Amino acid sequence: MAEIRSPRLLMEECRRYTAQLSELRMLLEERLHAARAELARLRDPYDPYDPYDVAPSAARTRSSAARVRQAGLDVAAIEAALERMDRGLYGTCTRCEAFLPLDRLRLAPHVQQCASCAGETRLTA
Ligand SMILES: [Zn+2]
Repeated sequence: MAEIRSPRLLMEECRRYTAQLSELRMLLEERLHAARAELARLRDPYDPYDPYDVAPSAARTRSSAARVRQAGLDVAAIEAALERMDRGLYGTCTRCEAFLPLDRLRLAPHVQQCASCAGETRLTA
């Protein structure tokens, strides 16, 4: 780092960064909990205690197979983001290593690619 900064400023920056990371970790953990619950619900879609539920039809089973797959991918993406956080790699693009903007991470904390890399590979944010 070329510029000389006061220890006080560095400490403030460190505190801010740590606070942002713990905010994002909480978001990720909330979403992981929700995604796992959704996956469990989709894997067992027929609820005999729900008066509005009916036994799954063939069409419903087909569409839910795709949703189970997507929910599984969501869980995996969130787990991967938490693992990157534990390894100190969270917040940088997995392709070009650019820092990911905080706004982007707040919207989608599991996203691990910058907008341009994600656009090039046509991944959904
Ligand atoms: Zn990138």
